[in-house]
Amino acid sequence: MIEIESLRINYENETALKSIDLSIEKNNSCAVIGPSGCGKTTLIYALAGLIKPDSGLVEISGEKLTEIREDTGVILQDYGLLPWKSVAENVALGLKIRNRKNNIIKQRTKEILKELKIYEYREKYPTELSGGQKQRVAIGRSLALKVDLLLLDEPSSSLDALSKEKLQDLILRIYKDRSLTFILVTHNIEEAVFLGQKIIIMNDGKIQHRLDNPYFGEVNLRNKMEFYKKCLEVRNLMDAGVSQ
Ligand code: ADP
Repeated sequence: MIEIESLRINYENETALKSIDLSIEKNNSCAVIGPSGCGKTTLIYALAGLIKPDSGLVEISGEKLTEIREDTGVILQDYGLLPWKSVAENVALGLKIRNRKNNIIKQRTKEILKELKIYEYREKYPTELSGGQKQRVAIGRSLALKVDLLLLDEPSSSLDALSKEKLQDLILRIYKDRSLTFILVTHNIEEAVFLGQKIIIMNDGKIQHRLDNPYFGEVNLRNKMEFYKKCLEVRNLMDAGVSQ
């Protein structure tokens, strides 16, 4: 579904992505992990069509990406919520922009608010919500549009440990319940191992390692020794990369 070939992205003074080759199959999940500054957010921006490659290409469902794609949901680090709109209005935003009928907007928004357990906050404003609740509103806005690709930038980085796990559980459930391709970038090893069927380790604008994660999707994975072994494997590979 996603093919990235020789992708290179430069900012004014530096090259953020050097030569990325990556393919992700339809309905698979991929976690991209690496230290701060290694190019993770730039990769999400490129996949979202928010920045153009200096060379190389991104192809989604067989089409070269040249602009923002309608069926891609993107959740960036600041959640992208409009502070002057209520929770329900924020969830409904994408549907409104696409001129969907009012009754469809109402029904779809209600379903999503209930599914993400934010229905009771529907009249509140983003400033009245916790980080985890804001993240659910942002996810809700993408899901309302029935996207087939969901991109998440550090979804739980600002949350406390318990909210982090709750959000990760929710993301896994959403992934399992829908036919979605799902890419998240994170600097959190546990998050990458919990949410990545494929785990990509980046360093300095390049992919250093690619791992398959056979334990992905298991219920209660965090209670299993295999989970910690995989986390350790990722940690060791990351440490080796940093000391190179
Ligand atoms: P990560 O998400 O892994 O922290 P980024 O993709 O944000 O990494 O950044 C990769 C590199 O590109 C970093 O060295 C960063 O300083 C640089 N960079 C990111 N955004 C910009 C920008 N808008 N202008 C110039 N340099 C940038």
